[in-house]
Amino acid sequence: LFENLQETGTQIYLQQLDMCFEKTAAHAEIMSLANRDGLTRLYNHRYFQERIRQEIAQAQRQKSGMSILLFDVDHFKNYNDQNGHPAGDTLLKALAELLGQSSGEDKAGKRITDVLARYGGEEFVMILPFTLHEGAKIKAERICKSVAEYAFAHREKQPSGKVSVSIGVASFPEHGQNAEEIIAAADRALYAAKHAGRNRVSSASDLAPA
Ligand code: GH3
Ligand code: MG
Ligand code: MG
Repeated sequence: LFENLQETGTQIYLQQLDMCFEKTAAHAEIMSLANRDGLTRLYNHRYFQERIRQEIAQAQRQKSGMSILLFDVDHFKNYNDQNGHPAGDTLLKALAELLGQSSGEDKAGKRITDVLARYGGEEFVMILPFTLHEGAKIKAERICKSVAEYAFAHREKQPSGKVSVSIGVASFPEHGQNAEEIIAAADRALYAAKHAGRNRVSSASDLAPA
């Protein structure tokens, strides 16, 4: 009898444990959707804001650095005007996919560390943990080139005959001590890249002091 009781107790315990796991998995699923942008399925702005703070704190603890790339599609209003808003949405999705290939695993198959998010309408941001400024600039140049070379639909109707992005690069600790300052520095660099003619990368190191 005692043995039976014990067995029943174990069964109930296992059932409860199972339910617990199910709830945790469902919760994780909801959480992950809450972190995602509906159109591109990339991380959303809110998640980016949370994550950049974590990555800066981590870099600070490790006495290391980190960088961000802020992207803005060039002449996207023209793309919408020429091809319609749904085509604009399709472009954002295709671009998100291309940028996704440029983040994460490298050629050596290292683990995914970069964090790609939709920052706003036609703006994206990539967090590069433990990446110093020089390395981030090289990565930005590579991405800028691959976007301009990619055969996006309707690219021929853009002013330059291609779909391109401008990119601002800023790094911790040299361009700011917290998330707000790093983002502001990347934003100023992005503005400089636009001003200099678009389809290019601009570094926060090359800006006049704020
Ligand atoms: P610039 O090269 O200076 O960045 O020019 P731009 O035309 O890209 O910049 P502007 O800010 O004038 O226009 C951005 C456009 O992006 C306007 C807005 O309607 C469009 N947009 C923002 N979010 C979305 C979206 O989710 N889908 C589509 N289709 N368009 C969007
Ligand atoms: Mg914009
Ligand atoms: Mg734009």
